[in-house]
Amino acid sequence: MNKKEYIEKAENNLLHVYNRFPVIFDYGKGVHLYDELDQEYLDFASGIGVMAFGYGNEDYEDALITQLKRITHTSNLYYHIPMIEAAEKLSKASGMDKVFFTNSGAEAIEGALKTAKKYAYTRRGAGDYEIIAMENSFHGRTVGSLSVTGTDHYREPFYPLMSGVKFATFNDFGSVLANLSDNTCAIIMETVQGEGGLYPADKEFLQKVRQLCDDEGILLILDEIQCGMGRTGSMYAFQQYGIKPDILTTAKALGNGVPVGAFCVTDKVAEQSLVPGDHGTTYGGNPLCATAVSQVFDMFQEYKLTEHVQEIAAYLEDVLDVFVNKYDFVTERRGMGLMQGLVLTIPVKDVVSKALLEEHLVVLSAGKDVLRLLPPLVITEQDVDVFKEKLERVFDSFL
Ligand SMILES: *Cc1c(COP(=O)(O)O)cnc(C)c1O
Repeated sequence: MNKKEYIEKAENNLLHVYNRFPVIFDYGKGVHLYDELDQEYLDFASGIGVMAFGYGNEDYEDALITQLKRITHTSNLYYHIPMIEAAEKLSKASGMDKVFFTNSGAEAIEGALKTAKKYAYTRRGAGDYEIIAMENSFHGRTVGSLSVTGTDHYREPFYPLMSGVKFATFNDFGSVLANLSDNTCAIIMETVQGEGGLYPADKEFLQKVRQLCDDEGILLILDEIQCGMGRTGSMYAFQQYGIKPDILTTAKALGNGVPVGAFCVTDKVAEQSLVPGDHGTTYGGNPLCATAVSQVFDMFQEYKLTEHVQEIAAYLEDVLDVFVNKYDFVTERRGMGLMQGLVLTIPVKDVVSKALLEEHLVVLSAGKDVLRLLPPLVITEQDVDVFKEKLERVFDSFL
């Protein structure tokens, strides 16, 4: 079959919830993707922040193949060694105490919301508990995670969603205070807003929210599904803010390509929230996925990857800052580490499409007007140089 026939078959059989680009990716090697005709693409999207180590990493593949042949699934009714090891490594990397593995980011959010509600229920008894979320946030597509996602057009068709969610303005502490009530049980936010357009939390804002949570006995949930796992130059972005959440959600790069997420809590929360019978999952953290998580943490150490991200991010930022100066339609650079955005006044969808189809450069958009870059964390200066040439040609075509 040729490409056209494959795409026709796809549209005949798949629910149309994506306007996909007319590209069929067949395999990957390092930071490159290859289509069905073996044409090479430079990947600055990493499958939306998932493929931290790029494609075809042998250490990773060997670990998974070995586990695949041993056992892929047992259920959470029993112990298995990959999960035991993965949980210990995740706790160590995050500074959190207890871990629950999920199959996706949205499910990690669901678990975080249930934990916060149960914590309030345990301490204060039944109550109509409220959650303060942020405008412009993104936490996922399930009903619970959609309830705390601050983008109206994602939400509206699905009302009524979970009740008791109030939206504050991100980085505006007064707005958080204005939404606080006696029934508030948690505040949820991304440490760096991803889908919403690459907005890092201000240090002072996050520290004040942390203090407020302590003073009021409510929980701070940080969603680091996109900005965690080394993306910003530390294992988790909050580690650069001098604070710690009560509940942390992580996913995307956690398994480097196998579907796995987690929510992590402190002992204080664990002791007064979910108990046997309150929560569960059939697949979550199964031996195959847990092996991936465990291997990913080992490789972070081995490759000294957070240090590498700090260095290469500085190099990428310089390139992006040149674009801000050079092109009138590039008005701003935003982001942290290898989670970078360029704010454009030209249609960002056209830029993404042209980069992909004409330059074979894979990039993303965020919000309405942000070109979003989430390259594999293992990119080199040479990859950034090639990226620069490609994006320059795309931008020049809009002059
Ligand atoms: C991607 C993402 C999610 C949802 O994760 P899924 O695995 O797609 O369910 C939640 N929060 C943030 C910040 C994300 O970037």
